[in-house]
Amino acid sequence: MDFKRFVQNHLNAGVVQTDDPEKSQQIFVANLFSFIGYAVSFLMSVGAYIRQDWLLGTVLLIACCIFFSSHLILRSKRLANPYKASANLVTTSLMLLMVYLVFTGGVNGTGPLWIYIVPPVALFFGGMRKGTRNLGLFFIVISALMFYPNDAWIGTSYTFEFKSRLIFSFLTVSCLFALYEYVRQSSFQRIKEMSQTFEKQAMCDPLSGLLNRRGMREKLQNEFDRSQRYKNVLTLMMCDIDHFKVVNDKYGHDKGDEVIKSLGHIFKSGLRKQDSLARWGGEEYLFLLPETNGEQAMQLAEKLRSKIADTQYKHEDKVFSVTISIGLHQITSTETINQAITKADTNLYKAKEQGRNRCIID
Ligand code: GH3
Ligand code: MG
Ligand code: MG
Repeated sequence: MDFKRFVQNHLNAGVVQTDDPEKSQQIFVANLFSFIGYAVSFLMSVGAYIRQDWLLGTVLLIACCIFFSSHLILRSKRLANPYKASANLVTTSLMLLMVYLVFTGGVNGTGPLWIYIVPPVALFFGGMRKGTRNLGLFFIVISALMFYPNDAWIGTSYTFEFKSRLIFSFLTVSCLFALYEYVRQSSFQRIKEMSQTFEKQAMCDPLSGLLNRRGMREKLQNEFDRSQRYKNVLTLMMCDIDHFKVVNDKYGHDKGDEVIKSLGHIFKSGLRKQDSLARWGGEEYLFLLPETNGEQAMQLAEKLRSKIADTQYKHEDKVFSVTISIGLHQITSTETINQAITKADTNLYKAKEQGRNRCIID
């Protein structure tokens, strides 16, 4: 159990520093690669020392230390981008180790067999563009070493059949991994876009395109927290269309829908970027106005109210307009979001009671 937790901690080192799922996955795999890297190179180094191959043993031990330090880098809290530094270190040191194995032949000429590790590592850490560029560079270097006439650039000798099969199989594996990486990246991108769309849909009202209650609740919480922290003023406006039932009855539900949508557009065009607007209920809108006090909000409310009253709608040969009532409330530091909404609602109710087509603030 403790060993399992140790392995989990080891593989998740650095993951907590980010909340991006792809980044977390990459860091996890980076830990996994570095773990496999230092474990395998350590075992092989011990094997080489036992065979009294001091040079290979030492090279593998150095590689083992580099792979381990790439894991330590991921744990670092001082580096700006530990993942990038670690990924570059793993890729570069792995490629250099492979060049060394191709150059010397490793144990009885079996060294080049390890080069198939390079494509997945280079493509995973580098992505399509950088990964294929690094792979291309690696390919050119090992081809040059192996095929330079008279083995002048290499410390060992391979048969032509071995070299050519090695290069072709390496190319095939590289292409397959590149294709796999491409499919993986595009699927990930598609899923990310889909989830962003769904998230947006879950926050929006389909008729008006404005925020729905859920979306507004989130904005309210954020702005509420911010206003408490920075002691900023924040005002709510609850707006309701007057006698809307009459609009539906006289001109039909579709016309009613059109009016609801049109009011949303008019309101939006009168707001600032930091303001939020939601369709809070059937023909009810909630405005959230950061850094706006009650007096400033009242000016805006009056402007919107008269603009709506002046807007005319056509239905067949009839022309009509609607009016709105607005209840305003400047949030105080001691109240909750729900209490603030209730106060704006109470003021709206007062506006209705006092004859509608008006704005009331407490
Ligand atoms: P008041 O001035 O008191 O607000 O009167 P009202 O008629 O607007 O008030 P009430 O809340 O009783 O009625 C609201 C109406 O809004 C009833 C409902 O049919 C209509 N409504 C709610 N949602 C929609 C919608 O999505 N589309 C349409 N066309 N009508 C809606
Ligand atoms: Mg109404
Ligand atoms: Mg209503």
